[in-house]
Amino acid sequence: MNAAHARSNIGAIDAAHHMHPFSDMKKLNADGTRIIQRAEGVHIFDNHGKKYLDGFAGLWCVNVGYGRKEITDAVMRQMNELPYYNTFFGTTTEPATLLAEKIISHAGPRFSHVFFTGSGSEANDTWFRMARVYWKTLGHPEKKVIISRKNGYHGSTVAGASLGGMKWMHEQGDLPIPGVVHIGQPYWYVEGGDLSPEEFGLRAAGELEEKILELGADKVAAFVAEPIQGAGGVIIPPSTYWPEIARICKKYDILLVNDEVICGFGRLGTWFGHQYYGLEPDLCPIAKGLSSGYLPIGGVMVSKRVADVLINEAGDFNHGFTYSGHPVCAAAALENLRIIEDEKLVERVRDDTGPYFAKAWKSLEDHEVVGQAESVGLMGGLQLAADKTTRRRYAKPEDAGVVVRNHCLKNGLVLRATNDRMLASPPLIITRAEIDELVTTLRGGLDHLRDTMPR
Ligand code: PMP
Repeated sequence: MNAAHARSNIGAIDAAHHMHPFSDMKKLNADGTRIIQRAEGVHIFDNHGKKYLDGFAGLWCVNVGYGRKEITDAVMRQMNELPYYNTFFGTTTEPATLLAEKIISHAGPRFSHVFFTGSGSEANDTWFRMARVYWKTLGHPEKKVIISRKNGYHGSTVAGASLGGMKWMHEQGDLPIPGVVHIGQPYWYVEGGDLSPEEFGLRAAGELEEKILELGADKVAAFVAEPIQGAGGVIIPPSTYWPEIARICKKYDILLVNDEVICGFGRLGTWFGHQYYGLEPDLCPIAKGLSSGYLPIGGVMVSKRVADVLINEAGDFNHGFTYSGHPVCAAAALENLRIIEDEKLVERVRDDTGPYFAKAWKSLEDHEVVGQAESVGLMGGLQLAADKTTRRRYAKPEDAGVVVRNHCLKNGLVLRATNDRMLASPPLIITRAEIDELVTTLRGGLDHLRDTMPR
């Protein structure tokens, strides 16, 4: 088959040979797949030339936007000089080492080292073992249970999906693995009942203390959570939540792990999400915005507290990936971080586009089918509601989200829907005018929901 023929036939070839992630393939093959051809700035274009504003930065990752020739040039240079070498057996490459230094320079003095992986899932598998090795080395081999949250997301590997709190993922593959337990999430709108958000934040955090007491603090290695739950629906915790979690972790000497795979690299208007909340985590998995998705790379930021034990006392850490510190991926990430620094994208989100987005996003709360519209930086979660005065949801929440999402898509805007929440996470280079466009198109989707779905 020649290339031109193959191009016109991609849909059929795809149905015949390509299994997609998180998809009902029978349904996808019947509906047909969308084919994205090219991209520039905050826009993607499909194979029919239709232009979309990418309100989701690919998959929460294209922080510096598309079409950055500086990154592709850096990748080419590295490809030509050294396309691959490993970081095992007493070896490193320049990009891997310099990238570790660069990441730590933004993580602050609490952190000292980075362990590289190929993805966010592998990053979660990595800290999972680090946490257990840490406590074992200190003479506490029984201190190994990991507490995580319902509806959290930490990846699709066996450990990642176990740490995640998606029941529908656990059902496939007999998960979670032993030693992982889940507590509730700080999702006030749906689970808060008659409590105020602040009261509910304390209640949700209190579940951590209850679980630690139930298991025994000497059995619990770590608590893991995203600063803001992403895939779960951009669940922004009430203000009381994180200070209470931090207090509990300190009191019982439990490692705090913040999954920074989405919140890292500027999304919240800080380099890392834990900085926004003033937290002091011990381990942080990272990925996505580290390279803006140009090439796959992830890692774990290791605090001095943990690194000191792993490096000086634990001996060999029997863990690693062929692509740990891949030199070309590291070169892409280094150039990506240079762009974020030089263009002051973190400051821009913090001082300009973040507050502008917050106001525009919040303005949607006047809509009849919107219960709540919250955001931090350039990460927004919008709760749909059948009756906003009583917080009653649509009979089939997931259908409501799909109606809005598809209407936006038809009108040239990519957003994600998780049940009855609309999620936004645009590239950090988005302008005020593009934020207006995003919110206006979303409002059209909300009108469409109001006009077509019975409440
Ligand atoms: N952690 C979080 C918070 C994520 O959002 C994701 C991906 N959406 C992951 C981990 C897994 O990353 P990856 O898909 O690169 O394995």
